[in-house]
Amino acid sequence: MSENLIYFNGKFVPENEPVISVFDHGFLYGDGVFEGIRAYNGRVFKLKEHVDRLFDSAKAIDLDVGMTKEAMTEAILETIRINNLTDAYIRPIVSRGNGDLGLDPRKCEKPNVIIVAKFWGSMYGDLYSVGLKGVTVGVRRNAPDMLSPNIKSLNYLNNILAKIEANAKGADEAIFLDSNGYVAEGSGDNIFVIKNGEVYTPPTINNLKGITRATAIDLLREEKIPVHVENISLFDVYTADEIFVTGTAAEAAPVVWVDGRFIGTGKPGPITLKMVKKFEKVTGTTGTPIYAAGKAPAKSAAKPAASTAKAAATKTAAKPAAKTAASKPAAKTAARKPAAKK
Ligand code: PLP
Repeated sequence: MSENLIYFNGKFVPENEPVISVFDHGFLYGDGVFEGIRAYNGRVFKLKEHVDRLFDSAKAIDLDVGMTKEAMTEAILETIRINNLTDAYIRPIVSRGNGDLGLDPRKCEKPNVIIVAKFWGSMYGDLYSVGLKGVTVGVRRNAPDMLSPNIKSLNYLNNILAKIEANAKGADEAIFLDSNGYVAEGSGDNIFVIKNGEVYTPPTINNLKGITRATAIDLLREEKIPVHVENISLFDVYTADEIFVTGTAAEAAPVVWVDGRFIGTGKPGPITLKMVKKFEKVTGTTGTPIYAAGKAPAKSAAKPAASTAKAAATKTAAKPAAKTAASKPAAKTAARKPAAKK
């Protein structure tokens, strides 16, 4: 049975082979940066934007990636090709590299560069059609003068603490406030609220400069739907007609319930559904081609490349569910149950 291959410092190695030293400062301290990228239908969506953001994150923590953007771009494409994928989630990681047990980054001579590419269906499965439950969490989003939320760093503990809280409260996603009490973002996605046909999203000082967020703004403006980038409060969230979140992993997902209140009708609303449809179209038809014309393999989903029966079962199970959820917002009529209120 074949195993996926990962890129590690210029070589490809089986994904289960240990490559990272316990002295790697990404492992020891979260000292490093990463990206999450998706490929659809043989094209990598917004590849340049993701590579640019990876390098910006690295610059912000004074980390020399040790390769050019062009070389990184090619390494990402090659990692997808070597695994014969057409639809994939791609995770480039650049850590400070191997040092000693002290945290001084000067002890790390060169970064470790890893790229993982695997099939990963829709993150929220069937919830795209009924909408997510969101909760505000007590933990505040990192302030920009602490660990800037603009840096996509290997230290995601702030986000993980929010997720733990959301899990404990029985919600699908956390909604972070910043230290001033303004709405910041989700644990892994940006947030949009809709009121009276106009869309509002917070400025990116208190959240990640989301590439899906930028795409959503473009798509909404193409439809002549006004989009305002301004501070929003919990009042705006609770009284919204519609809410959705965006992210590479999460894609575009409606939120229909927050902190015990149904949002609008409690079902995904018309602007959200229009946006989701346009998002599916743009991801399915644009992006950097992975393969030369006529060289693309059969669709990723058709090829169970997993090394164990359990993993293979997960893979084959994930795909149809993902497709149904993503391509059929028609199931939108189902509202979330009030039981969510517990
Ligand atoms: N906010 C956070 C904290 C994230 O981790 C992500 C995902 O990477 C996003 C927002 C959405 O960003 P993007 O759309 O670029 O994936």
